[in-house]
Amino acid sequence: MIIRGGTVVTARGVETADIAIAGSQIVAVGLNLAGDSDEIDASGLHVFPGGIDSHVHFNEPGRTEWEDIAHGSAALAAGGYTTFIDMPLNNLPVTTTVEAFDLKLEAMKRSSKVDFGLWGGLVPGNIDQLEPLVRRGVMGFKAFMCPSGIDEFPASDPITLRNGMKRIADLGSILLVHAEDPARLLMPRGTGALDFVHSRPPSAERAAIAQAIELSDATGCRLHVVHVSTAWGMRLIREAQQNGLDVSGETCPHYLLYGELDLERLGGAGKCAPPFRTASDREALWTADVIVSDHSPCTLDLKAGDDFTRIWGGISGCQSTLQLLLANDRLDLPKVAAVTSTNIARRFGIAGKGDIASAHDADLWIVDLKSEDVVRREDLLYRNAFSVHEGQRIRGRTVKTLVGGGDPGSGRFIRPERHSGQPARGSSQGGTGTRS
Ligand SMILES: [Zn+2]
Repeated sequence: MIIRGGTVVTARGVETADIAIAGSQIVAVGLNLAGDSDEIDASGLHVFPGGIDSHVHFNEPGRTEWEDIAHGSAALAAGGYTTFIDMPLNNLPVTTTVEAFDLKLEAMKRSSKVDFGLWGGLVPGNIDQLEPLVRRGVMGFKAFMCPSGIDEFPASDPITLRNGMKRIADLGSILLVHAEDPARLLMPRGTGALDFVHSRPPSAERAAIAQAIELSDATGCRLHVVHVSTAWGMRLIREAQQNGLDVSGETCPHYLLYGELDLERLGGAGKCAPPFRTASDREALWTADVIVSDHSPCTLDLKAGDDFTRIWGGISGCQSTLQLLLANDRLDLPKVAAVTSTNIARRFGIAGKGDIASAHDADLWIVDLKSEDVVRREDLLYRNAFSVHEGQRIRGRTVKTLVGGGDPGSGRFIRPERHSGQPARGSSQGGTGTRS
């Protein structure tokens, strides 16, 4: 098959080119490619590498009334995404054991319309599960430095973190942390939106990220900080990188688009942890290397009312990430491809994805960038169709999303190749790993 005459966007730049696909792979990118096979006319359209959302909660098995794999993965495909990596919660059982991993993998194989990977969980008491989970093919591990909001996925105390990170370093894997220092979280003074915001101060994120970076340095464990919300967090991660540590971070559209003063207007749909911050924080977050949705849905009733001590925290958004970023002039097109796909494939060792080049999977988003609209509830494909982004400007109408050269339908399980990042130091086995 040939995709003819589109404007091809990669992290390297923008060019008009044809894309030749054989089977599930791209075999050539160039001008006037010869072919007598099927063609898609992409003139006037843009072609991006399929998005990779490395931070979603599809909650299956266990909490499928909040979201399930079929709806979540269909929403991703509609928004230009061809791969996701699912978090080890809020599904039940949580993905902290091989038994739970096997259950989830079966559900994913049954229902995912796009390619998928799985994060494992690090929690107190499951250190013996880390190696078997790596052998099963987890992309890495997620830990919470503060309570996660669900009892079955407890926070990792400093000793659990340190021992876990030593183990994960030896296994050549990576740890993702939700970084808020529980000692700096406060009891809300009231039930309002700003009471909630003030109960989770920026200093909690700053202290936790600093601690996680210290542990990464001490253990040689590769570290990725999820949903960074503050300028300080970004700065600590940059400094660690400049000091040669193998540390990265991500942010999400909702931290780029909304401030703490917007939360009252947005209501419960905008409650998440950490909360929205200030304009100067948002300014710094636009420099992030990785932007993901942290799609963490629930039923509408759990978002109702105005008592922010009772409203469930989590944003529904994975369908709109690319379109929201494109509606904003802050990132040029190659940068959009980089932060939503290329950088994620590189950081997490996803071979054959994240670029439009020969020998890569034919994971492509063909999109009409002339089209502008707003996020509408009736267009959302989530199990529970609502979002904090409703009414936000979006750019880009999906003409076609190709997963491995075909229509979305039956996603494949991906596991990390040899990690691309260099081991920080201190672990003779770091970086190459022992996975099968
Ligand atoms: Zn999350």
